[in-house]
Amino acid sequence: MKTIQTAISHFLDIAILKIDNEDNITEVVVNTHSKLKISKGTNIYKVFSKEEKFRLKRVLESALDVRKKYMELNKTLGVNEYVDVKLFENGNERYFFIQFFESNREREVMYDRYIEKLTNLSERDPMTKVLNRQGFEEKVKRLISKSDPKKKLGVVYVDMDKLKTINDTYGHEMGDKAILNVTNILVSTTRERDLIARMGGDEFVIVVEEMTGSKSTAYGLAKRLLKATSMQKDQKYTTTLSIGVHVFEAGKISCCFKDHEKFIELWSEQIKKADQAAYKSKTDGRNRISVTKEYTKYY
Ligand code: GH3
Ligand code: MG
Repeated sequence: MKTIQTAISHFLDIAILKIDNEDNITEVVVNTHSKLKISKGTNIYKVFSKEEKFRLKRVLESALDVRKKYMELNKTLGVNEYVDVKLFENGNERYFFIQFFESNREREVMYDRYIEKLTNLSERDPMTKVLNRQGFEEKVKRLISKSDPKKKLGVVYVDMDKLKTINDTYGHEMGDKAILNVTNILVSTTRERDLIARMGGDEFVIVVEEMTGSKSTAYGLAKRLLKATSMQKDQKYTTTLSIGVHVFEAGKISCCFKDHEKFIELWSEQIKKADQAAYKSKTDGRNRISVTKEYTKYY
């Protein structure tokens, strides 16, 4: 075994651990990392940092389905590194395969990419790839936390007109195409720093930082959206939009970052106002913009 270890350590930095049903190490099959001190009897949870407990549990529970994870090792074992982890099952036997990367840079890049992928999955709407409600709340919270309390934030609430008619006339797939078409218009009409979210169904919300005296206002954006939809060639999937525009000062909801529920409550009040303005556009005949009384007060 020693010879194999020496041979492997020339080109690989790995550890293979056999574990039992209680996730205790029953055999250190190979360990070429001189700093990693692991021995028989150690529970596998002790090998990784406390923060990784939840993800490690998922590796162990999902077994062969999700094999690759980048995880941080427990610093008390003498190593302060991220590693690539796989779980192999051979009949009743389970082996943990830990691979160290060649360079810190490579390891960091892979870990970051992995985290980014996970974050994207949980923050984005799978169909349109814009933010989902949860991702939106996180991003809005971050934006408000670094904004001056006096900073004005514009909210543009968009509800597609007569999507149901497209579904009923041409089928659900054409309806999906209509939603994607509107997503494209939203993405291409906004700036990268604006936040776009799908609130569910055919409703979207955009948050912009209001810049008075320039084109960068929520109302200006709403006008550009109506213009973009009116310039489309008439297709089975093209729709008009009913839009509501609202504005509020960041300070209005920045009081309670520590109390997430309170933050969401105050943020939802702002969204509701923009939604009610969009509803007014709907009842006034669709394909138009309505603003809240807060918006008229500022402009
Ligand atoms: P209105 O002009 O009053 O907004 O009418 P609408 O037909 O757009 O109806 P409403 O906004 O009240 O409801 C949205 C409809 O969009 C309901 C549902 O049939 C449809 N819808 C919601 N999500 C999806 C989706 O993911 N794909 C498709 N194809 N249709 C959806
Ligand atoms: Mg609609």
